[in-house]
Amino acid sequence: MLSAFIPIAHILSFAFFILAIRGLSSPHTAQHGNFLGILGMLLAVVSVLLLSPITELGQVLISIILGAGVGIYPALKVKMTSLPQMIAAFNGLGGLSAMFIALAEIFSGSASHFDTSIGLIIGALAFSGSMIAFAKLQGIITSAAINFSFQQTINFLLALAIIILCGLFVLMPNINIFISLGIISIILGTLLVLPIGGADMPIVISILNAYSGLAAAGIGFSLGNVLLIITGTIVGASGTILSYIMVKAMNRTLKNVLFGGYSIQKHNSSSLPINTQSAHVGSPQDAAYIMENANKVIIVPGYGMAVSQAQHILQKMAYDLHSKYDVEVKFAIHPVAGRMPGHMNVLLAEANVPFEDIYALEDINHEFSSADVAYVIGANDITNPLAKTDTSSPIYGMPILEVEKAKTVFFVKRSLNSGYSGVENPLFFANNTIMLYGDAKKITEEIVTTLENK
Ligand code: NDP
Repeated sequence: MLSAFIPIAHILSFAFFILAIRGLSSPHTAQHGNFLGILGMLLAVVSVLLLSPITELGQVLISIILGAGVGIYPALKVKMTSLPQMIAAFNGLGGLSAMFIALAEIFSGSASHFDTSIGLIIGALAFSGSMIAFAKLQGIITSAAINFSFQQTINFLLALAIIILCGLFVLMPNINIFISLGIISIILGTLLVLPIGGADMPIVISILNAYSGLAAAGIGFSLGNVLLIITGTIVGASGTILSYIMVKAMNRTLKNVLFGGYSIQKHNSSSLPINTQSAHVGSPQDAAYIMENANKVIIVPGYGMAVSQAQHILQKMAYDLHSKYDVEVKFAIHPVAGRMPGHMNVLLAEANVPFEDIYALEDINHEFSSADVAYVIGANDITNPLAKTDTSSPIYGMPILEVEKAKTVFFVKRSLNSGYSGVENPLFFANNTIMLYGDAKKITEEIVTTLENK
């Protein structure tokens, strides 16, 4: 009975995982997709429990309770804006567990040495790389690129050492070689992520996510566990595809993300072709007046909207402008707006902004020239025109939302400070820009009050 249930449970959980990913590809089906993913995982966990010898069941249950206990607390407490750190930390833990399983397999003496070494190497890269990404995103270490002399030569030598040690280990298995392999892979993972800064972190997180899946698949081979092989491969493949999409969207190549060593330099104002004293400052009442008389308003949300949780009041503003003043309102989403892929889409969906009003960069950029207003709320890097012109800039080459083409551009933020990449934005001083200083939610609330009191 049990022997018939296990393979069926495995096949069903693979099917649920694949359907989950398919569901997650559209906002309309995402919730359903998420549910199928949970169902697939539940089946997988139950089948592992049923497979465990009765004597080990207590051990497995204790591990599940401990793991769930550690996972549930941050999952409930973490702010939406800190999700990238949490994802990085969880990817890292995935890598760490692959390393531990590899070690246990070597001690048990039953595993294929090659498969186990691959699991160990990728797991170690995912672990240390993710920990550095976590530390950068959390502000524990600087998010700027950390470069030093001969970095790429050292990385090359470490990679070579890994290949040689892996070959040696397969030919003459020895625990010291295996441990050295793990340590060198940890150092290489650290050195690969330290020089990544600027606007490239989202791509790195996605690559590390793919690594953690591949590590699980590698370990799946050495354990002969089909479930782990397939789920690891799904994570590896989807992470790789997401990385490719992000690399394309950011106008990068994988080579220059991983080996480019972009550095974040704080461009001081004097190096910019603008006069820092000349930013025009407006009030929410001015903004309400200009927007209610506009034909077309394009809203550009960014990280600051997420911080201030302004999505609900923003939806209200869009609704009022459209229903009361007959203004055409659209939302423009940059692929790396906020701090995680899809960050803005999730928040706008939560606030019930209709999906058909939300446009991706490539579908909306040509519309800014016919817009009366670009309402840039808590966004900065994703509008910075230096990405098109300043070859020394860490964001050079990143496509931007061309808000400067609108008749009037409102920037809702608290100061003239730069965004995540540390690059100052010359648009703040453009003739058609009006700064609305303050918290994104408060400013938008004042605009809505003005719109509704007329
Ligand atoms: P930015 O970080 O460029 O700018 C956000 C702006 O929001 C800041 O300049 C800040 O200005 C303002 N802000 C902060 N809090 C508030 C608030 N309460 N009210 C109003 N404004 C506020 O964000 P963007 O979304 O424009 O760009 C995303 C950046 O993050 C890119 O560089 C991207 O590469 C990077 N990134 C993206 C990830 C992703 O997956 N999406 C992951 C990791 C990094 P002020 O202090 O003056 O208020």
